Amino acid sequence: MGKALIIGCGGVASVAIHKCCQNSEVFEEICIASRTKSKCDALKEKLEGTTKTKISTAKVDADNVDDLIALINEFKPDVVLNLALPYQDLTIMDACLATKTHYIDTANYEPEDTAKFEYKWQWAYRERFEQAGITALLGSGFDPGVTSVFSAYALKHEFDEINYIDILDCNGGDHGYPFATNFNPEINIREVSAKGSYWEDGHWVETEPMEIKREYDFEGVGKKDMYLLHHEEIESLALNIPGIKRIRFFMTFGQSYLTHLKCLENVGMTSIEPIMYEGKEIIPLQFLKAVLPDPASLGPRTVGKTNIGCIFRGKKDGKDKTYYLYNICDHQECYKEVGSQAVSYTTGVPAMIGAMLVMNGTWQKPGVYNVEEFDPDPFMDALNKWGLPWKESYNPVLVD
Ligand code: NDP
Repeated sequence: MGKALIIGCGGVASVAIHKCCQNSEVFEEICIASRTKSKCDALKEKLEGTTKTKISTAKVDADNVDDLIALINEFKPDVVLNLALPYQDLTIMDACLATKTHYIDTANYEPEDTAKFEYKWQWAYRERFEQAGITALLGSGFDPGVTSVFSAYALKHEFDEINYIDILDCNGGDHGYPFATNFNPEINIREVSAKGSYWEDGHWVETEPMEIKREYDFEGVGKKDMYLLHHEEIESLALNIPGIKRIRFFMTFGQSYLTHLKCLENVGMTSIEPIMYEGKEIIPLQFLKAVLPDPASLGPRTVGKTNIGCIFRGKKDGKDKTYYLYNICDHQECYKEVGSQAVSYTTGVPAMIGAMLVMNGTWQKPGVYNVEEFDPDPFMDALNKWGLPWKESYNPVLVD
C-alpha cells in the first residue's frame, strides 16, 4: 500500500516498527529516522529477513525543520509517524506542511522549558493542514489514543449521552529495580510531579500532586492504589463528548516509586531549571534521566500485567447506564513477541494502527484531529487483530 517515515527509535517506536513489519501489506516500505542512527540500524538488522517490509534508516535532527524536509523529500513517505519526544511535535508538523505529508503522533506538544502540555499549539495548525489537504492525527497511543477511541465507541454504540468518564491506568508490572520509569523518564517524571486536575461542569479543577488517592481492584492485577493526575486526553474529550459533566484520570503507583520520587523532588533532582555544575549548565531532570535505567532495558525483567480502560456513566433510552471498556496486557507476552515491556507495547500498537488508518484513507480528513473525532469501529477491530484485544463490562465497580 505505501511508505511510512517513523521518527524516533526508542521504546514506543521499536514496538510500532515491529508491528508495521508484521503488517507488510500496508507498510510496504518504512524509513526509521532518529537522532542516534546506530539504534535504527540495529533494529533494521533485527527485523530484516523476518518481514516483507523494506526498511531503510536515516539520521535526523527532528528539532530542525530543514533537516526533516530534506529527509521527507528524499524518502517521499505517505505518512510521518512521530515517535520522538513531545518537544518535536511542532517542527515535525511544520515539515509535514511544507511537504504535504500526513502526520500522526502519540503525545501533545510540550515546550521544553515549561512542563505544561496542552493541545493549543497543535490545534493552531488546523487551518493550515486543511488548506494543504493533509491530515494530522493527534494522540494515537494508549492514553491518549485507545482511551479516546473507547470513549467514541461507547458514545456511538452504548449511550445517548455520556456524563462521567473515569480513565483508569494500572501498571501491575514489577521490573525489580527500586526506581525506574516505564517510558521516557524525563517526560514521565514531568507528568507525575505536576499538579493534578480534572474536568467538572465546564472547567478544570486543580489538585496538589497526588492529592486524590483511591484503591481499585483491577482484573488480572488485583488491588492497587491509584492517584488522580492531569492527562492530555481530558482536554480533547471535554470538547468532543457532548453532555460530559466530569472526566478524571487515575494512574497506579506503588509506595516505593512514590517514596523515591518524593526524595528526588526534595533534593531538587526533578527540577527543569538549569543549574551550573563544574562550569557547565545542566538540567537536573535530564541528568537524572542519564542515571536511571533505560526503559527499553526493562523488557526482559518486567513481569505482571497492565490494565487500562474507561468507566463510563450516562444515559441510554432515558435510563442510567454504566459501561467499562478495558484492555489487559501481559509484560512477558509482549517481550516474547516484540522484545519490549507492555507500556511500550500498549503505545506502539495503536501508533501503528493510527498510521495504517490514515495511510489507507479510512481516517483521512484534511485538518488536525484527535482520535475520538473519527469513526471508532475500524480502530476497535484493529486493536483485536493487532494484539490489544479489549473487554467490556456492564456492571463495573465504580470509583467514588
Ligand atoms: P524514548 O526516549 O525511548 O524514545 C524517544 C526517541 O526519540 C529516541 O530514539 C530519541 O533518540 C529520539 N529523539 C529525541 N529527540 C530527537 C530529536 N531531536 N531528533 C531525532 N530523534 C530524537 O521515548 P518513548 O519511546 O518512551 O516515548 C516516545 C513518545 O511516546 C513520547 O512522545 C512519549 O510521550 C509518547 N508516549 C505516549 C504514550 C501514550 O499512551 N499516548 C505512552 C508512552 C509514551 P535517542 O535514541 O538519540 O535518544
